[in-house]
Amino acid sequence: MRHRATPFLHVLACAPVAALVAASSALSAHAQSAATPTQAKPDPYVVAIDAGHGGSADNNRPDQPFDPGVVAPNGLQEKDVTLDVAKRLAALLKADSVEVVMTRTDDSYVDIGPRMQAAIDAGAQLFVSIHFNSFTDSSTGGALVLYPNDASLPFAQVMSDAVAKQLQQRYGIADDGVQSKPDLWVHATMPAVTVEGAYMTNPREAHLLEDGAFRDELAQAIRDGIEKQAPQITTLAAQIAQWNATHRPAPHARTTGAAASSFTEDTGGSAGGTLLRWAITLALLAALWRWRRRVVPTVRWTYMQIHDALGDRPTHMGTQARRRARAARGRGREVALTGYGLTLATSWCSDTPLSERLGSVQRRRKSARRRAVLQRAARPAPTRRSVYDELWF
Ligand SMILES: [Zn+2]
Repeated sequence: MRHRATPFLHVLACAPVAALVAASSALSAHAQSAATPTQAKPDPYVVAIDAGHGGSADNNRPDQPFDPGVVAPNGLQEKDVTLDVAKRLAALLKADSVEVVMTRTDDSYVDIGPRMQAAIDAGAQLFVSIHFNSFTDSSTGGALVLYPNDASLPFAQVMSDAVAKQLQQRYGIADDGVQSKPDLWVHATMPAVTVEGAYMTNPREAHLLEDGAFRDELAQAIRDGIEKQAPQITTLAAQIAQWNATHRPAPHARTTGAAASSFTEDTGGSAGGTLLRWAITLALLAALWRWRRRVVPTVRWTYMQIHDALGDRPTHMGTQARRRARAARGRGREVALTGYGLTLATSWCSDTPLSERLGSVQRRRKSARRRAVLQRAARPAPTRRSVYDELWF
């Protein structure tokens, strides 16, 4: 049955060492990751979304301008549909890690100048204005994309293709292509387009605009146009997702808006944690060394108890016989323990066997003691009968 004890002894002897090794390797790994320069979060792509028109008449403020845009025969107001589609588009873009700048988020009047200025101030790389068309002939319909300058023409073409692809086949919205409109968005510093998704004066298209599914389709079409114009959005989305995965905000960081500040808190907390873990490891090592004389018998006693509990004893014996047998086993185990300990110790030093090194240490100690005794003997010592009486070791 003794061979059964071998793995247990190894486990018992190795457990604290393994724990320390694991802890220190984890700590060094953590220290390495903390030491590497923290990679900055990739800057998101910025898109400005302009919901056309806005504002309501207010009798209490007769000077306040308002602009409902086109009012369809079914009562639908352009300002409401543009805001709704703009919000749907913003949600789609945000899902792709795009930073969205909205020129208005509610039914408020915003002048053309401040709309473009907001986009410029936010560093928008593309500008998309959402409108719906109108014409005196109610049979006129289709989707049109307007652009202010030559720099915006490629974006307008890409956007027109994306919208036509989505709306023409499924909803029968005609593809009216692109059209230059140099008086709109004259101060644009980035490619800018105005998407006139449908005609509100066309009863069929106005009816479609009441449908949430159609608004979703239009928002997806505009999203596709933006992402075709800026394919780096997809790459950036993957990079940002990867960055977020490796830089999860700390649980105590309550401010969700300030990503930078929460990140600083996170790293600060980790540094403190590293220091604490190091201190605990060192304290544990010091305690083990301080009470090593108690630790070793405790480990040995625990091992004995476990071994006894596992039933490595004859059950038919009386109490006395069992005690004798246990004592005999104990002696045997002490010898075995020493053997296992030596095997363990030497197995860690395959290059220079520890037993050899221990042997040389013991030899050096012995000769030092011998020298000390001989030196003491050289001094007059009347009570000592013979120097060699002390040299029995
Ligand atoms: Zn309009």
